[in-house]
Amino acid sequence: MSQKINGVKGMNDLLPGEIEVWQFVESTARTLFGRFGYGEVRTPMVEDTALFVRSVGEETDIVGKEMYTFEDKGGRSLSLRPEGTAPAARAYIEHSVNNQEPVSRWFYTGPMFRYERMQTGRYRQFYQIGAEAYGAKEPAQDAELMDMVVQFLEALGLQEVTLNINSLGDENCRPAYHAKLVDYLKSHREELCGDCQQRLERNPLRVLDCKNEKCQAVAAAGPNVLEFLCEPCRTHFTDLQRKLGALGVRYVVNHRLVRGLDYYTRTVFEFIAAHPALRTASTVGGGGRYDKMMKGLGGPDVPAVGFAMGLDRLVLLLKESGKTFIQRPDLFIAVDETSHDEGLKLASRLRREGLKVDFDTRGGSLKSQMKRADKSGARFTLVLGEQERTSGQAKLKPMAGGDSVPVALDNVAATVRAQPEAPAQAPVS
Ligand code: AMP
Repeated sequence: MSQKINGVKGMNDLLPGEIEVWQFVESTARTLFGRFGYGEVRTPMVEDTALFVRSVGEETDIVGKEMYTFEDKGGRSLSLRPEGTAPAARAYIEHSVNNQEPVSRWFYTGPMFRYERMQTGRYRQFYQIGAEAYGAKEPAQDAELMDMVVQFLEALGLQEVTLNINSLGDENCRPAYHAKLVDYLKSHREELCGDCQQRLERNPLRVLDCKNEKCQAVAAAGPNVLEFLCEPCRTHFTDLQRKLGALGVRYVVNHRLVRGLDYYTRTVFEFIAAHPALRTASTVGGGGRYDKMMKGLGGPDVPAVGFAMGLDRLVLLLKESGKTFIQRPDLFIAVDETSHDEGLKLASRLRREGLKVDFDTRGGSLKSQMKRADKSGARFTLVLGEQERTSGQAKLKPMAGGDSVPVALDNVAATVRAQPEAPAQAPVS
């Protein structure tokens, strides 16, 4: 017997029955982001490795340890994208979008790839939906973007998600903070976990968001980045908070929020969910300002701010909510042995007229078809036999119980639509 081949570890299949909740999240985002003026951008899944090295940063976990990097047949070093901000920025620069309009708002969605240690809410192929606003350096842009995420979470019906904000300063004030932090951490080196002792040399900011309790205790007593902000950075941060207040967006200031990518300046933020189902993967999204990235990638000096939400984690939360996202059929058509072709034709016509129709192409006994109708969760069943065909009249049987409704075969769609919505059927198995 041939050996079975399984999918790649950390990369999941999404099958019908589960995909509906994903589609709900995506369509909610599309509608809402559209209202805020964001247009969709699609970039390739593979980029020149240098793009991520120069933007996300060589010393980050993402680039240093987690990228799927390979050589193509022409000897180029390519990487599966681990995130969406750098590819969008690359496209923005390549198409000289700044020469076409002063402010651009883009969103993207799709799979990202990181070779991470797998656990609940942490996969090797995962999905993000993110947005980027280019050309506006004002704190109002940061606030508007956060408001968009808040409205997105509301539209999904997800509560108990907390917005954390912080400022990492800029090239003027961050070096002093950085130096102070490194001095402080070095004096507590022995108390840090092994990973953080290495981070101390390579990427000291990351020590601040280590999950290890001892490292957290060290970080909590360390220097506070907000006390090091220069005047323009401080004003940006206070203005941001004022605007969030005006919008009624609730937030907490968390001076230890650093995020795992190098490209941020000033504002950084994260949305953290309280639900225990996410375990340690409680951050459902995050982002920040990256005013220097475009220039660093050889592009124009254009400020930008963006975020990415993890779809896998939003879907986990929605599944916990117990809501069902599957659209059940409006109608199941069952036929006797003389009416199979007519049933097939009627189903085809009603689908053209916009109904969701289930029909058992295998035929079989009426009893087995009725069983199937029950399982399908359809609102109504219509039995089509010789008598219905000759009279042109049939009955709509409500599957939730109650009286059947007489219907003319040439008026089925309108009659189904006119029926009041009955309570939901049992979930489709
Ligand atoms: P990041 O690009 O690391 O800021 O991630 C943004 C969001 O993507 C996170 O808040 C998570 O919700 C999600 N995310 C990041 N890495 C993973 C992963 N390996 N598996 C699932 N979701 C992830």
